[in-house]
Amino acid sequence: MSLAPGSVIGIIGGGQLGRMSAQAAARLGYLVHVFSPEASGPAAQVSARATVAAYDDLAALHRFAEDVDVVTFEFENLPAPSLELLARLKPVRPGAKILAISQDRVLEKTFLNEAGVATAPWARVETLAELEAAVAKFGLPAVLKTTRLGYDGKGQALLRGPEDLAPAFERLHPKPLILEGFVDFGAELSVMVARGVNGEVVSFDPVENRHKHHILDLTLAPAPYQPEILAEATALARRIAERLELVGLLGVEMFLRADGHVVVNEIAPRPHNSGHWTMDACPCGQFEMHIRAVAGLPLPPATRHADAVMKNLIGPADMATWPQILATPGLIPHHYGKWEAREGRKMGHVNRLFHKGALPGEFGIEAALRVREG
Ligand code: AMP
Repeated sequence: MSLAPGSVIGIIGGGQLGRMSAQAAARLGYLVHVFSPEASGPAAQVSARATVAAYDDLAALHRFAEDVDVVTFEFENLPAPSLELLARLKPVRPGAKILAISQDRVLEKTFLNEAGVATAPWARVETLAELEAAVAKFGLPAVLKTTRLGYDGKGQALLRGPEDLAPAFERLHPKPLILEGFVDFGAELSVMVARGVNGEVVSFDPVENRHKHHILDLTLAPAPYQPEILAEATALARRIAERLELVGLLGVEMFLRADGHVVVNEIAPRPHNSGHWTMDACPCGQFEMHIRAVAGLPLPPATRHADAVMKNLIGPADMATWPQILATPGLIPHHYGKWEAREGRKMGHVNRLFHKGALPGEFGIEAALRVREG
């Protein structure tokens, strides 16, 4: 059943992903009710209603659930009792099982491998002895990670030599941890995939992501690699969405190995930073696709009418160029409504479109993103 205009979509989380989802929802005639601990954040600024409360405030979550027709997420690390309460009262899309899998690297990799999706070799490690045994198996370098709550490179350590094991093991919390064999990758790719209530699956073209200081800096759409590689990435993402019986949107992050094959790094059951290019390069971008899927609307094909580059605007240095960005023809600005530009904080992004098939190379991209001086 699809939601009629005027229905209320509840979004857990108040950041930029909620903001852009709310903007897309409004365009389809829905009202958005945001639940977030932060008052007047990026999402609340553009939403019809907002609840300001902690994610474990069950009374507030109960009132929120009573007010909405469906619940979705832009922040998926909700405590289990909160999620159970919501799921008892209203449809939660994507469902609790998917959130549990994506929150825990051990469950995530177990699910992926069982679905026949390749990942880095991995082992769950609870003690230093288990870590040493896993390192003996995979060799060095290797990457030690927390199983939960890691993002933007936080909660992980690169182990280069034997002397790195004990300090990294001590530093990372909470245990257990997960050790991953090092993937010698040539590029990082991602695919945004959506699945509707009737089981139809659509996927946006695979893109390449480039990071700076562990934070996404640039997305190139489409990823400039051979069609077979892109086809493999797309097939993996679609298989994951189907196996999860996803209703909603999912970002699949992958490594393109030196041998030309793709392995999956992690999945995020929500709109994703690497899908922001779709807002301007696709008739139905990731946020509209997300809202359509959770509202039970039909999903149009995830067609792309242009090539695109997305650049994140991070912290005070990038935001200092905002006036020049606005004065530069061709840069499509997106501001997240955050008033304090802290170091490393995602403040906005710009998209730049190119004719289909005309994505420039390294220097061309740099030139295309250059802001007008003065
Ligand atoms: P993650 O928190 O899992 O997204 O990892 C953050 C970044 O660390 C990735 O984008 C990669 O650049 C790097 N990384 C993570 N896991 C591995 C791995 N197993 N092998 C090589 N690099 C990795």
